[in-house]
Amino acid sequence: MTRHAVQCSFEGCPEAASYKIAARWSDGSFAELKTYGFACSDHLGPVFRQAERRLQDYQAAPNEIVEELAIYRYETGKRDRQLQRLWGLEDNYRT
Ligand SMILES: [Zn+2]
Repeated sequence: MTRHAVQCSFEGCPEAASYKIAARWSDGSFAELKTYGFACSDHLGPVFRQAERRLQDYQAAPNEIVEELAIYRYETGKRDRQLQRLWGLEDNYRT
């Protein structure tokens, strides 16, 4: 059985993802990390900006809370709550 690696979301890129772009989402009773994309180290910039646009276009329902977009170091097999948030990187890419 081959190990399933998550691929970079950038179109045509075959690299395995090193980063997960996600935002915390909540409807008041339930909260989760909503994924907006995965990126290899070469495509973190474009994938982050695509995700930002999708988040800006998103019409949240009155009970929904979507927090700011965050970058996490993605590691296969780790649960969302174990992922490390990379605050310094976000500052480089936030527009
Ligand atoms: Zn890539």
